Amino acid sequence: MFEHELSSSSSKYPSEKHIRTEKDGDFQCVECCFPIKRLYIQYSPGNIRLKRCENCKNVADEYIECEHMITVIDLILHKPKAYRHLFYNKFTKGTLDFEGLLWGSTLGYLILDAYAMSILSLSEKDWTSAMSFASLWHYYGEFLIGIIVGNVVFMLILLIGFEKFINASAAGLGCKHIVLAILVSCYFKIFLVAMMVWEFPSSVVFMIDMFILSSNTVALKVLGNAAAIRCLGVSFAAYAVKFLTCQWLRRLL
Ligand SMILES: [Zn+2]
Repeated sequence: MFEHELSSSSSKYPSEKHIRTEKDGDFQCVECCFPIKRLYIQYSPGNIRLKRCENCKNVADEYIECEHMITVIDLILHKPKAYRHLFYNKFTKGTLDFEGLLWGSTLGYLILDAYAMSILSLSEKDWTSAMSFASLWHYYGEFLIGIIVGNVVFMLILLIGFEKFINASAAGLGCKHIVLAILVSCYFKIFLVAMMVWEFPSSVVFMIDMFILSSNTVALKVLGNAAAIRCLGVSFAAYAVKFLTCQWLRRLL
């Protein structure tokens, strides 16, 4: 049984989005971005009281008592407060194995990205059973280099774009935290698993990439409290440079 804490204190702060600083709380209100020290008070197992935001008076993070499916649906609907819940209240170093999640997300992302790239490559390549070991070795070597270099460039462009064109100081987060947030915002890549089971046209890969592009844009917007058009520009530039890098490597190797 949950009950919400009522706060009688008046608002001391302006209603516009608050810039996060080192002295602020460890968590954030998902409605207005206001920093908060604690999201709930636990009296006993299963008996917690959600804290209200001092600024907007709403429950600071309603997702704490929601089923995971509700959070997933709101992420798919691109609701910024669902992204804030993940980035600021869920993926904090004190609440989970941050390093493990970062490396796990990176590995999962690379595997799914490799699968997506293989779908596109296989549709272009003329495969024959008579391919020599040397040509297969060359193909897979080229493929692996493309995956690694393409994604390193992709992440660098996003980080540099975030630093230069989005208000990086607003995030108040480390580089690793931003990388994890971007990787997690690529969650729709999990749909590629369905392509391993059922047959889809290869154009579905592009549709998934378009969805991930919009998800990355919302993630950057939430992290930087920046205008959506800037975040879209940075995301689009990262995808464009990644694509051009992969095409260049394919001709070079
Ligand atoms: Zn608030």
